[in-house]
Amino acid sequence: MAARLLPWYADNGRHHLPWRHTVDAYALWLAEIMLQQTRVETALDYYPRFLEKFPGWESLASANLDDVLALWSGLGYYARARNAHRTAKLVAADWNGLFPDTLEEAMLLPGVGRSTAAAVLDSAYGQSQAILDANARRVLLRVHGLQGNPRAPAQEKTLWRLAEQETPDPAHEYNQAIQDLGSLVCLSKRPRCTNCPLMGVCRGSPAVTGEASPQVSGGSGKRPRPKRFGLFLLALDGSGKVFLERRPEQGVWGGLWCLPLVYEETSLPGPEDLAEGAALAASRFGAVLRAGEILSFRQHVFSHFILEFATLPAFLPAMQQVPDALSHGQLWAPGDALGLGLPSPIRRILEELC
Ligand code: SF4
Repeated sequence: MAARLLPWYADNGRHHLPWRHTVDAYALWLAEIMLQQTRVETALDYYPRFLEKFPGWESLASANLDDVLALWSGLGYYARARNAHRTAKLVAADWNGLFPDTLEEAMLLPGVGRSTAAAVLDSAYGQSQAILDANARRVLLRVHGLQGNPRAPAQEKTLWRLAEQETPDPAHEYNQAIQDLGSLVCLSKRPRCTNCPLMGVCRGSPAVTGEASPQVSGGSGKRPRPKRFGLFLLALDGSGKVFLERRPEQGVWGGLWCLPLVYEETSLPGPEDLAEGAALAASRFGAVLRAGEILSFRQHVFSHFILEFATLPAFLPAMQQVPDALSHGQLWAPGDALGLGLPSPIRRILEELC
């Protein structure tokens, strides 16, 4: 594979990516974390802004988590931001500001799996390490014609063995090449086999199998996502401030500021659910729903489900004292709230208020 991939990479690789031009372990680790569940095009927008605000372990370690989440806002999978913050604190405090230089030690850091650790050690410290990110995994599955669940432990073991077997020493260029091939050519849905340098050796390619497309999907055979329906309380006080509460650390949108969720089910809310939502809003928040508002649902796609959500506009009367239910919440001027860590659908709602 290396003999075919390296010349292809020299001519076709994504040499412009900013993390390809640094050997700084912090910058490389940050890119790896961002790219774990985010498309390159999206990460390219966030990466320089994050590096500018938090240029190294120390600055990220000493940052307020709210500021980190605010900058991560819109990237999704917020556990990554919380883990990144914890990792920076550990590296700054326990590792003298240096990313650990062995796989075993690097993998002790929150959110750092074997492939992430290997990629940083390879790029920052010149260690020849095999990687197995989603792109490398898909290419290896197809080239070696592997069938079955790619996440099953036995298959995982086989994939790591093949990754080590195929990875040359030095590994750096090859690691970039296999990622780029997966990203540009060996696409999960419509692989461009006729443009692929591995066409002659790939056991999954149509030339070998006689099928119209590679036999091994590499994990693209996703089941349709289930739908959930949610109602957020959009409670404004007399001065136009909006009530937001912080989500629990664990779970969806963990640690982010959000409108209170007063309904979340697998079915559309009916009139009785709206009445229940109104009663909940009144008892927990002292909010009075504005009558006659038409609910218009929007969609937010998560990796495991689709959330169809609407807002329940409500008026929040001046309060003599803050009820217990509000102790983890706060009123914010919508413009100020935009500086917080917010889920992207909530950000869009607040932007409309500004
Ligand atoms: S020949 Fe097709 S299936 Fe095989 S690695 Fe190339 S693009 Fe992927």
